[in-house]
Order: sequence, then C-alpha cells, then structure tokens
Amino acid sequence: MEELDPKYVSFLGTWNEWITIISLVFVGITALLTVYYFIRMLSIRNPKEKHDFINLNEINLFWYSMLSLSIAGGLYLNTVGTSTVQEEVIWFFVRLFVTASFTTIFALIFNSLIKVYYPFQVNKRLNSLRHQVRINPNNGNKMKLISEEEEDKYMTDEMIDEEARFFVDYDVWLDESTEYTIIEKYDGSSLAVECPSCGYRTLRVKDEKIIVSPTVDTEGELENFYDCSYCGHKERRVIRTHKLHSKPVGEE
Ligand SMILES: [Zn+2]
Repeated sequence: MEELDPKYVSFLGTWNEWITIISLVFVGITALLTVYYFIRMLSIRNPKEKHDFINLNEINLFWYSMLSLSIAGGLYLNTVGTSTVQEEVIWFFVRLFVTASFTTIFALIFNSLIKVYYPFQVNKRLNSLRHQVRINPNNGNKMKLISEEEEDKYMTDEMIDEEARFFVDYDVWLDESTEYTIIEKYDGSSLAVECPSCGYRTLRVKDEKIIVSPTVDTEGELENFYDCSYCGHKERRVIRTHKLHSKPVGEE
C-alpha cells in the first residue's frame, strides 16, 4: 500500500477528535432537554396547568431531543472503526455519506413516531388530567365537574358567548358544600384529531369563521378550517354553537 501523506493522517486524527466531541455535545443537549422537561412537568401540581404545559411542549421537546440524539448517533458512527493510518481519501467521503444518511434515517423514523403515533398517547394523558378530580384549595373538598347543560349558571356572560362563538370549551368544577367554583378554559384548536385522509392524528384547526352568528333565540354555525401536518389534507367542518346568553352590546 502506498504511503499516506502525513498531513492527511494528522487531519483525520483531529477530525475524529472533533467529531467525537461534537457528538458528545449533542448527547448532552438530549439529556438536558429531557431532564429540563421532566423537572418542569413533574413540578407542576395543578392538573390544569400540567395539562397546558404538556399540550404546549411535550411533542416538540421530545422531537428536538430525538433529533439531537439522531445527530449524535450519526456523528458517532462517523468515528467508529476507523484507523487514521489506513485511511483513503475516498473512504473519508464514504463515511461522511454514511453519517448523513444514518442521521436522516434516524431523524425521519423518530419524526413520524413522534408527530404521528405519539399524539394518541399525549391526548390520552391530557384527557385524564382534564378529568382528574379537582380539589378545593380552601378546604380540601373534592369538586364535581358540572355538565354542559348546567354549567351556564356558573359562567359569566362573556364565557358563554365565547363558547358560543369560538372553538373553546369551559369546564366548571363545583364544590357543592360551599358553591366554590373553578372554571378552566380549553382551546379546541390546540388538540389534534384523526385525519380522514391519512388516518394519523395530525389534523388541527388552523382558522375559524362564523357563518351564522348565534343569537339569544337561535344557535350559531361556526366553520373550522383543518390542516393535516402529515399529509397536507385540508378540510372544512361546520359545527353548531350554543345560543347566546345575553344580547351582544349594541343589539339591545
Ligand atoms: Zn392527513
């Protein structure tokens, strides 16, 4: 075998050292993101706050930490099984190509797992947090979730009108012994539903429009524009909304 240029050998040695260091930095980023998420999530006691934190952050943070792990894995593969002395220039580029391919493949696998299948798991946990029995902070009593039909008398007119006009839901929890209530707002557009085109749970409301304004006597109609983040499918759905509780200002 022909002798390699010593400059090239020394370049490869430095290269391997740097790639190993950068790979470890990405392992560190993965660990920091994961630890940060769990500490924040576990330190929130209030079920509603925990619900909102998970809904807003979990899928994205999990994706970023898996992306960082994919990069770390790909870079690590670049340094495995190489001996600088026997390196050939062509082999160096083969390794770069293998690294890029593996990183992309890992990232794509994690991406579809997280964006497509994982929301089922997250939604299940969000649902159980939403329905977890609330405790009255003043006396420790267990509170009761009031049904949609009965909840209006505990809500302000603004809340009832907002529920009538937009894709939001209010939950009313009542302590029956003291009449103390906790009212929580849930934004319907932040939750993903199953896409009729690809079957994955990646369909979300992107925009909404009032078609028929609700009045005190009649229900309204709201048009929701859905977008699938997986297959790009778009659709509109018309939902009926509640009657208004009070006349809007200026229509007296
Ligand atoms: Zn779809």
